[in-house]
Amino acid sequence: MSTVLVWFRRDLRCHDNATLRRAVAEADTVVPLYCLPDRLTGEGMFGLDRVGPHRAQFLIESLADLRESLRDRDGELYVRSGDPGTVVPEAAEEFDADAVYWQALPGPEERDEAGSVRAGLADAGIDSETFWTHTLYHRDDLPRPPDEIEDTFTPWKDRTEAKATVRPPKPAPEWVHAPNGGRRASSGADDLPTLADFGFGEDEATVDDRGVLDWTGGETAGLDRVATYVWERDCLREYRETRNGLVGADYSSKFSPWLSFGCLSPRQIHREVEQYETDRVENDSTYWLVFELTWRDFFQYQLAKYGAKWFQPGGIRDRDDIRWRRDRAQFERWARGETGIPFVDANMRELNATGYVSNRGRQNVASFLSNNLRIDWRLGAAYFESRLVDYDVASNWCNWAYQSQVGNDSRDSYFEIVGQATHYDPEGAYVTRWCPELSALPPEYVHEPWTMSEHEQADYGVELGTDYPAPMIDLEASYEKLR
Ligand SMILES: Cc1cc2nc3c(=O)[nH]c(=O)nc-3n(C[C@H](O)[C@H](O)[C@H](O)COP(=O)(O)OP(=O)(O)OC[C@H]3O[C@@H](n4cnc5c(N)ncnc54)[C@H](O)[C@@H]3O)c2cc1C
Repeated sequence: MSTVLVWFRRDLRCHDNATLRRAVAEADTVVPLYCLPDRLTGEGMFGLDRVGPHRAQFLIESLADLRESLRDRDGELYVRSGDPGTVVPEAAEEFDADAVYWQALPGPEERDEAGSVRAGLADAGIDSETFWTHTLYHRDDLPRPPDEIEDTFTPWKDRTEAKATVRPPKPAPEWVHAPNGGRRASSGADDLPTLADFGFGEDEATVDDRGVLDWTGGETAGLDRVATYVWERDCLREYRETRNGLVGADYSSKFSPWLSFGCLSPRQIHREVEQYETDRVENDSTYWLVFELTWRDFFQYQLAKYGAKWFQPGGIRDRDDIRWRRDRAQFERWARGETGIPFVDANMRELNATGYVSNRGRQNVASFLSNNLRIDWRLGAAYFESRLVDYDVASNWCNWAYQSQVGNDSRDSYFEIVGQATHYDPEGAYVTRWCPELSALPPEYVHEPWTMSEHEQADYGVELGTDYPAPMIDLEASYEKLR
């Protein structure tokens, strides 16, 4: 009679979960365990919350859904909190496990955590094994191991596409046999975490009505979103044309929160794309969604390659020629969406109110903080870490470094915020959605209210410094310094 404990991490799903499948195939009883690490309920860098209310809610819902899925399979999800290095080995002993299996992750904290779990298990004489399950291309299938990969996306992608294939996703196991003939997790010790555990009240996780989606965590909701976006609404056929949108549920897939928590497997999405190409249409758009998932992989492997360097001011390029500022007051104006630059403010307000903001918006607000304000880009990354519902350590920190000229891009580019705003939001519909105080302005002023004369401000009823902030910097002058 053998027992395997499966330590769930960012793989909160039953489908395409090699860790769970192997445990089910090898053991008589399987103990699925989630441990909420203490580090997630406290403060992170710069004293900011590690996990904000929207992501906390998404995690809680994802765990509830996983528990239901396991119960449907005769299984159970046990839930603990604390330091995984102590909690996981203790649980393994409590359930008399012969081995513990878990998902390998590339982040330095996650690797350290796994190292202490492994050491604790070894002390107790319990075997352990890890599985790589969160990328499109499996680590073992890469033409070069992660520590030897290219630092530029395109050559890495070309080589990977030419030499590797995406493994087919595996179905969910039919049964997950719980110990003690299906003993339910006790109420009390195994209760799901609550918002209060993260220090939030119920109302703080509410998603503003203006948000793109009412996020629901869990594998069930993630698979539903795939069915809706790809099949019901048929959006995939024009993804490439719509993906830079700003308003609405369907300009992009919105798969990211479910991917980040592992409620969705990227290989399952890949399979759906292939099926769609067979049944409906194969075009640039269908390729492009997979292309974006390949970007996601690139950053996962970049994190594996450079580890803690991603969290240093000079990034992976060891740059020491940029003087990063730590002006907390300016940072807070940016974070609150009160910079006086409407396109920046609208995106920050959307992030704060919903936990999500478009890729176009993320690029612009990141570029504004790190290039125009020259504020330590890591403050921005840590703020995103706290607020995003889809936060992923690799996708967040590597994208921030990229926008801040300390990551993978070598072109040292920055965004012309007003140019971006007028291109992607020509009528100002997005900006006025999140900055309603600018609604009375004609489109030519929505993105540059500071160009209005005092008379015009009075005529439109938008007085800068009273109804809407005056710009916190002279944008044009800040570009001069970068040129
Ligand atoms: C400063 C900054 C911070 C970011 N932080 C995160 C983060 O913490 N978590 C996160 O998932 N994404 C992050 N992104 C990437 C991207 O903005 C989001 O993945 C995307 O907006 C999510 O919406 P979607 O699922 O509709 O994307 P889609 O356009 O539908 O793309 C499909 C999937 O591809 C992946 N993807 C797309 N673009 C990127 C990219 N640039 N980098 C990595 N993966 C990508 C995502 O998994 C996404 O769900 C960040 C981008 C920037 C510029």
